[in-house]
Amino acid sequence: MSFDSLGLSAELVRAVSDKGYSEPTPVQRQAIPVILEGRDILAGAQTGTGKTAGFTLPMLQRLSAGKPVNGRRPVRALVLTPTRELAAQVGESVEVYGRHLQLSSSVIFGGVKINPQIQRLRRGVDILVATPGRLLDHASQGTLDLSRVEILVLDEADRMLDMGFLPDIRRILTDVPRKRQSLLFSATMPAPIRTLANDILRDPVSVQVARVSSPAETVMQRVYHVEHSQKANLLVH
Ligand code: AMP
Repeated sequence: MSFDSLGLSAELVRAVSDKGYSEPTPVQRQAIPVILEGRDILAGAQTGTGKTAGFTLPMLQRLSAGKPVNGRRPVRALVLTPTRELAAQVGESVEVYGRHLQLSSSVIFGGVKINPQIQRLRRGVDILVATPGRLLDHASQGTLDLSRVEILVLDEADRMLDMGFLPDIRRILTDVPRKRQSLLFSATMPAPIRTLANDILRDPVSVQVARVSSPAETVMQRVYHVEHSQKANLLVH
């Protein structure tokens, strides 16, 4: 199977072949056509599955197909990630896959000066990749308008929850339009993620490429039934 058979435009197929990818990965095969149709997605996919391209490619295509906006470009796609490292990585993927398109993107995260980020936002960006805390700093200072967001992506949602970002995410959700496309990616699907998914996704298509919470293949697991008092001894043994 090739990338263009998934419905991707020539510019995106070219960017993918520039990267040297010959075939889409399973998560890309499942997610790309569905996202291109405009549907919401609940995807169980771990890092290393190619999930970033799985949402970035169709997101870029949908944004580039939209009507050009006159004047300053509003943020039309928002990608939330748990860490600055992941934000930077996703931001780089957006640049690389979008290199033959006329879209602008920016990455914002905490721990660095806010002013250069404000200047960048003022110039207008189509795609914003951000960590929740710094995003809210911008929103509360009035330097960011999320009222024109068409696509919202939560990447590594389970890690965002583990890091205590749920209240921040809920606040951000009040700033984005209700009518939008939402994509939720998570390595695991514990109950709080399912609740969040229920709240934010509309009739989502489920995509699952690894068993829920599956351990790494190199990890051997065994179960021994033992009295509580003997647990430590058995472990040492
Ligand atoms: P991710 O799961 O998004 O973190 O991606 C893991 C790695 O797979 C990244 O280094 C990507 O550059 C790479 N990758 C993504 N899609 C493909 C593909 N279709 N073929 C080969 N490598 C890929």
